[in-house]
Amino acid sequence: MSDAETIIVGGGPAGAACACGLAMAGREVILLERTREPHHKVCGEFVSGETRAALDRLGIDVRALGAAEVGDVVLHFRARTVAAALPFRASSLSRYRLDAALLRRAEECGAHVRRGLALRSLVRSGAMWTLRCADGTAIRCRQLVLATGKWGVRGLAETRDASLVGLKIHLRLASAQERAISGRVEIFFVPGGYAGLELVEEGIANLCLVLRRATVKALASGWAALREHLIEASPRLGERLCGASPRWEPPLAVVCPAAGHLESEAQGLYRVGDRLAHIPPLAGDGLAIALGSAALAAEHIRRGASAAAYLAEARRLTRRPIGIAGALSRLLACGAGPGLLMGVASMAPGMIAAFAKATRLPFPARASQ
Ligand SMILES: Cc1cc2nc3c(=O)[nH]c(=O)nc-3n(C[C@H](O)[C@H](O)[C@H](O)COP(=O)(O)OP(=O)(O)OC[C@H]3O[C@@H](n4cnc5c(N)ncnc54)[C@H](O)[C@@H]3O)c2cc1C
Repeated sequence: MSDAETIIVGGGPAGAACACGLAMAGREVILLERTREPHHKVCGEFVSGETRAALDRLGIDVRALGAAEVGDVVLHFRARTVAAALPFRASSLSRYRLDAALLRRAEECGAHVRRGLALRSLVRSGAMWTLRCADGTAIRCRQLVLATGKWGVRGLAETRDASLVGLKIHLRLASAQERAISGRVEIFFVPGGYAGLELVEEGIANLCLVLRRATVKALASGWAALREHLIEASPRLGERLCGASPRWEPPLAVVCPAAGHLESEAQGLYRVGDRLAHIPPLAGDGLAIALGSAALAAEHIRRGASAAAYLAEARRLTRRPIGIAGALSRLLACGAGPGLLMGVASMAPGMIAAFAKATRLPFPARASQ
């Protein structure tokens, strides 16, 4: 059995950013990531203004990675369309590229990144954690950062709602449709959910949607069945998908909570990113929680502040935006919700920018970033 000062489990944006924050301050840190290679993840791939600023502070320039610029948001429901300018400069970049760049940066900063190593279970005894990995390795550490995203770990009691499913696929659109969505993120409200469409790098379009679990279960698997369902649910989205070809099969899927989630018990460890909190995807700001909470956790660990103190501060910063995004998601989930929202948005388009501002995460810049 080996010992380490701090172990981070999970090499998504939250884990990688936390590793950067600790390694930049000269701390010994080991990061365990279960996958061996970069991979695609279910995500709208919208990089908000604060996410971009947090990445800049870590030395990652999304434009240099090929990100597309996003200036406007366009909402569609049945025959109605409402457009508004975003109140911040945003981008979109595939998670395949973004996550790989963050892990590379963590290594450059001095973190020991161990890929292909999955945590199986955790036990706490006294001030130490013992981690058992899938390959039989056992490691002990004093500080443990849990950054496993949507996935829980054996040995920790946690329950989350999983009544929605997030789906994602990259598409090559017909050229007229590719031009039409350039510079914007389009959101299409469909019964019980919504779909987001935007260009990422190299003219590829990312289609990401959230649907009720029961709806997804009733669909045959594969792009053809999903496409048919979406064309029927939103003729406007159907226009965009005319002549589109998928870049892989079948679409990726992950379960997600309907109205947000915020962890309430520290249990002696530092939860970051989705493991700490889930903001409904409509807000397009999960990455900002991942990066902001990671920096906050790294700062608390460096100062020797407890996991409970970190959690209290993280909750204070995230509760309001998650509550607002959750309330809107609940409204959209009821039959009359999308029509009501479109009515209000068309009379007062400023409301869209107000929602975008109200759901931003107020994580301040931290010394190590
Ligand atoms: C449908 C949908 C759309 C979204 N759209 C957006 C958007 O447009 N913009 C935005 O900002 N946010 C969006 N989000 C949210 C965003 O995707 C997440 O908030 C973000 O991925 C959280 O990062 P993370 O590092 O916490 O988790 P993840 O990115 O999930 O990373 C967790 C990592 O931990 C690893 N792991 C898991 N278990 C283990 C284990 N036992 N041992 C070792 N490693 C393990 C996994 O392999 C993974 O690499 C969306 C979410 C959904 C569901």
